[in-house]
Amino acid sequence: MKQSELFSRTIKDAPKNEKSLNAQLLIRAGFIDKLSAGVYSFLPLGLKVLENIEKIISEEIEKIDGQKILMPGLVSKKNWEQTGRWKSFEELFKIKGSGGKEYALAPTHEEVVVPFVQKYIYSYKDLPCYVYQEQVKFRDEIRVKSGLMRTREFKMKDLYSFHISEDDLDKYYEKVKTAYFKIFERMGLKEKVYLTMASGGSFSDFSHEFQVSTSAGEDIIYVCENCKLAINKEIKQDYLKCSECGKEQFREEKAIEVGNIFKLGTKYTEPFNFEFVDKDSSKKLVTMGCYGVGHTRLMGTIVEIYNDKQGIIWPKEVAPFQVHLIALNSRDQAINNKIKKTAEKIYHDLRGRKKEVLYDDRVDKRPGEKFADADLIGIPLRVVISERTLEKDSVEIKERHKQEVRIVKIKDLRVLNNMLS
Ligand code: ATP
Ligand code: MG
Repeated sequence: MKQSELFSRTIKDAPKNEKSLNAQLLIRAGFIDKLSAGVYSFLPLGLKVLENIEKIISEEIEKIDGQKILMPGLVSKKNWEQTGRWKSFEELFKIKGSGGKEYALAPTHEEVVVPFVQKYIYSYKDLPCYVYQEQVKFRDEIRVKSGLMRTREFKMKDLYSFHISEDDLDKYYEKVKTAYFKIFERMGLKEKVYLTMASGGSFSDFSHEFQVSTSAGEDIIYVCENCKLAINKEIKQDYLKCSECGKEQFREEKAIEVGNIFKLGTKYTEPFNFEFVDKDSSKKLVTMGCYGVGHTRLMGTIVEIYNDKQGIIWPKEVAPFQVHLIALNSRDQAINNKIKKTAEKIYHDLRGRKKEVLYDDRVDKRPGEKFADADLIGIPLRVVISERTLEKDSVEIKERHKQEVRIVKIKDLRVLNNMLS
């Protein structure tokens, strides 16, 4: 992508009404735009990051046999009444259609997925069943001051599993745990994420959260110093032993919940009388699990963790582009033409090798402005071509998270491959 054509613009000063670092940086760098409190648009750069997050999640969920579907966000009141959540789900957005018919904008999809899957499941032979979607959710959150980490409209991957027994659910639940760790590892959060025991909110008595440790987090967790299992403050008793290793030493940390998994049992299959015919011809209620992870919250969380004074530092797999190729303008037109020609050749070469490149071809920007924009946007690898580098048939290469600059001969640009993999 040529930066001169990119639908985006960097902004020097942080917007005054944004308190959170993630929103300040993402708005300044041209990734997102605020429509109203807790509601954001995504520019091409922001959408690319979101799509990368989505791709990682889909890939790992498909590895554990999840099949992608899409359910509606507009859901009749009667579905919510059937489970009692029309009244009990505090953040439910309720709207009235023509003729006074009432709906909710779905904050989660148990009320849709259960009667939906029910139509296709008859006997034990049809189970287990794993379906997921990556969709927009709506929640009427009271406080929205954490940028993308808490919004009223957000993107979530929600996976639902249906089983013949609790045993079968237990086995799948462990698989999901492993898949989630893989997802967070690929996003650069391996060292930061803790499996955390928590209450189940309106879903179940008990659940596991995936909490990422950051000072911008809204939750307090206690991390076992020995085995790294954590417990959410909301459920922690005054005196407690780690359920994993039995030790009693906990470290308190601020954290943000990026994922949450629940063994729902028959909590939602019962209200819809979702039964299957078992081997012995008896009818039994289907056992269920649900598993959520928030794309947009993850994007905000990654920015909170990976940044410096100059801007964002994207981990490789989620970065909007892999390479930021920057052509610095010279006052001499002949040299300028040569810089442009060489830069375009490198640009096409890299793209030919399937590298995602943002090419700063802007002619009206000074070197300082181009470097400042590159640091703010945070693409992992910067490649600079200028009058000075051309004299040596070279480019300057710098990784965003390092200080050192390397001079590499243009003919040796294949070294980029190693740095990018
Ligand atoms: P919280 O306790 O932070 O409000 P939650 O427990 O209500 O979150 P879940 O119902 O477990 O959230 O939703 C699954 C995932 O969806 C969360 O782990 C999070 O990643 C994401 N999520 C939930 N609410 C929001 C929100 N308001 N904005 C952005 N992402 C959200
Ligand atoms: Mg939760």
